[in-house]
Amino acid sequence: MRIGVGYLLQETNTFSPVETRWEDFGLVEGGEVIDRWRGTETEIGGFFDVLEGAGHEAVPLFAGWAMTAGNLSSATFERLTSMIGERFEEAQPLDALLIALHGSMSAHGVDDCDGQIIEMARQNLGDKTIVVTLDLHANLTTKMVHSSNAIVSYQTYPHVDMYSTGVSAAELLLRSLKEEVRLVSCFKKLPLIVGPENMQTTNGPMEEVFNVGYMARKRGEVLTVSAFGVQPWLDVGEMGCATLAVSDKSLELADNCATDMAHHFWNLREKFTIPLLRPREAVTLAASEDRGPVVLAEISDAPTAGAPGDSAELLLPLEQYAPDRTALIWIRDPMVVMQAIAVGVGGKLRTAIGGGFDKTNHTPVLFDGAVCSVTDGQFRFTGNYNKGMLNNMGTTVVLKSKKTTIVVTEAPANMISPDVYFSQGLDPQDYHIVVVKSCNSFRSEYKFSSRVILVDTPGISPANLRGLPYERVPRPIYPLDPM
Ligand SMILES: [Zn+2]
Repeated sequence: MRIGVGYLLQETNTFSPVETRWEDFGLVEGGEVIDRWRGTETEIGGFFDVLEGAGHEAVPLFAGWAMTAGNLSSATFERLTSMIGERFEEAQPLDALLIALHGSMSAHGVDDCDGQIIEMARQNLGDKTIVVTLDLHANLTTKMVHSSNAIVSYQTYPHVDMYSTGVSAAELLLRSLKEEVRLVSCFKKLPLIVGPENMQTTNGPMEEVFNVGYMARKRGEVLTVSAFGVQPWLDVGEMGCATLAVSDKSLELADNCATDMAHHFWNLREKFTIPLLRPREAVTLAASEDRGPVVLAEISDAPTAGAPGDSAELLLPLEQYAPDRTALIWIRDPMVVMQAIAVGVGGKLRTAIGGGFDKTNHTPVLFDGAVCSVTDGQFRFTGNYNKGMLNNMGTTVVLKSKKTTIVVTEAPANMISPDVYFSQGLDPQDYHIVVVKSCNSFRSEYKFSSRVILVDTPGISPANLRGLPYERVPRPIYPLDPM
């Protein structure tokens, strides 16, 4: 059989002032998809392995991944849909389709880009089977469910199962094509927005939600279960957490399972919120630990949550409250990168750093120190998260002032992985305090840390959702309204 495979992931933060552009996707099409993505531990890597292993032809359509940022411009989304339409047409005849999406991509004028892409796939494939994978932070919509035969979410957060999600989806598709099963889906939306800080699937409320689904699966009632704790920085009409179950033939069993999971999700809603510390308390606590590295998670400036990564809010607290401790931090500042290159490796630099993008929340801080290195900022992930996937942080410099080492990049860095630091010849284990601008996914990659402290700074992806200027989410919704 000829089975189309596609991969297009972007998580939109509609509060971000930075628009997502066409070039951010690093898009490749046709045969280039195989060169770039086969062998990676991603959803599409899983698609290729299962389809080819079963003797089918995996027809590569397109693959791209963009860092979380603001809405796509209308022109970018139009260009994407026209490219996708062309690839679908060229690839015909296709017997089925596997497509990996994030599930919360939004453009100016289009809330549900992923739903629209799945709908396009349906128009092109007629009644052929379409199986979709989504991130656990997808905003599941009616259009997505109605236009596909089955949807499978990541089962882990921190996300370490992209490859196995791809494998599960491909295996489910093959079972359906062999007519071993007839896929029937049911989903439930909740009037609920939750932050990601306590959404681990290894413990806590999200684990409980999944376990309810796994019990139904164990009883043989459903084939797969998904839970979606939507990333909260998304101000769109059909917004909210969701659950979904796929059964063999039985709408009733899928419905029972999705409903049961949704009830648990709702009842556990308050447990998703955990306290954060102000910078002074967080840094003081980190400095008092006997052993490092202590991770200071600066959630509000997480690039994978759509923040620009330009916060320098922790530099002064580190100097003031942990003067004797070594610290490692990443800041995005293209101007400082240019200045450091002009000064040269070994030179001295005195400049303002940070606050170049999110001028509402961040202010520049004085840096006075040395330029240690310059690189092109390219590397592949080596850990549990998207292993093998190519990353580009743009031109990158390492600066040092007193006890603090700063990695400064031109483009946003994917802070989930310590590869951001490793790629610059820096080992976080050599530092007492390491600032990680990531909400939760870093936990699987920073297992070597002695302690994790969540720090509360202002930013585009804050933990306190009540302070965000939502205008379009359906009301009432928890935690914005009394329920
Ligand atoms: Zn996610």
